[in-house]
Amino acid sequence: MSPRAAHDTTARIQDLEAREYEHVIQSYARLPVEFVRAKGSSLWDEQGNKYLDFLCGISVTNIGHCHPRVVAAVRKQVGRLMHVSNLFYTEPAVLLAQRLAESSLKGRVFFCNSGAEATEAAIKLARKARMGGEIVTVRGAFHGRSYGALSATHEESKQAPFAPLVPGFRAVDPTPGALKQAVGPKTAAVLLEPIQGESGVHVLSNELLHAARAACDEHNAALIFDEVQCGMGRTGTLWAYEQVGVEPDALTTAKALGGGLPIGALVTAPILADVLETGDHGSTFAGGPVACAAALEALEITRDPHLLARVTEAGHRLLDGLEHLPHVTSVRGRGLMLACELEISAPEVVHRALLEQRLVVNATGPTTLRLLPPLIVTDAEIDEAVGRLERALEG
Ligand SMILES: *Cc1c(COP(=O)(O)O)cnc(C)c1O
Repeated sequence: MSPRAAHDTTARIQDLEAREYEHVIQSYARLPVEFVRAKGSSLWDEQGNKYLDFLCGISVTNIGHCHPRVVAAVRKQVGRLMHVSNLFYTEPAVLLAQRLAESSLKGRVFFCNSGAEATEAAIKLARKARMGGEIVTVRGAFHGRSYGALSATHEESKQAPFAPLVPGFRAVDPTPGALKQAVGPKTAAVLLEPIQGESGVHVLSNELLHAARAACDEHNAALIFDEVQCGMGRTGTLWAYEQVGVEPDALTTAKALGGGLPIGALVTAPILADVLETGDHGSTFAGGPVACAAALEALEITRDPHLLARVTEAGHRLLDGLEHLPHVTSVRGRGLMLACELEISAPEVVHRALLEQRLVVNATGPTTLRLLPPLIVTDAEIDEAVGRLERALEG
């Protein structure tokens, strides 16, 4: 980059920063880059610099940025019908519900616009099914920022400023014994992420998931999996639960479901399909034709067995590359949902990776680096990313 271009970038970012500071509530810590365009695994900043995206907008653009089939479907729908509300029938929502239910738990679907809203729908459904009752969650979980979802996200720093929270939530240690002990006749549901994303990619053990299934069966409670981050092909199967041999009674999805557009869903098994009735729950934008048209394409593309098999293969290649990097003490995860534990500061590595290596990754904690590359990532891109990360780790 010429000194002149570097100066322009800095001036532009400084101007954006200043205006953002003045007008936008300061609830995010942003990195000093402005992205203006993307395609597949790549992002471009306003100077035309190309970045390799191994974060996917936090597991949203799983099939790559601006997938041509998603773009075409959105273009077609957006010029025809954008919104009518849920007072009327629209076909994209019906088709998407059908495909989602067929591809997972075979019951019914409630649409919403985000992961947090999917959590809310799940909590309301579980409470209504049992006429109240406790929601048991697992420590380290993240289910969203709205009040119900936040109450299910047992993290002092996220909860404390916003007390009082919704009553009737209990977080347990991620062990089969603790879970079994917490579930009883008053339990409405056990809500958990099969692989905890925001806390740093912690794969819950098969024993824990089987114990949760058994405890819910014994006490007639609902087992709900939050697959907002680990679903939609991220771990090498369409849904993460497919790999553990435990089927939940309901699951939530969002993030990658819309291929880049905002949409979420609660999917039930037949046993819970009749719980929410007319008037029980709703959302003005939910199941809108444009988001559903995008999601229909994203789901069809993601369901491709070749793509899913490739996720597992690519995941092994990336894991292998990461394990050999300097300052990496361990690597964990499944498929293309991976995290590295570092012996140095992860936020600093993220900063250097972005600004010096043009590689987008993120830190979920002081020493934890998270990688969520697109499912379409090539071997060459994996090797390139590992090389860039190595240079960022070496400082
Ligand atoms: C991101 C996330 C959510 C919240 O989704 P939003 O769309 O940000 O509301 C809920 N659960 C999990 C597992 C997530 O990763």
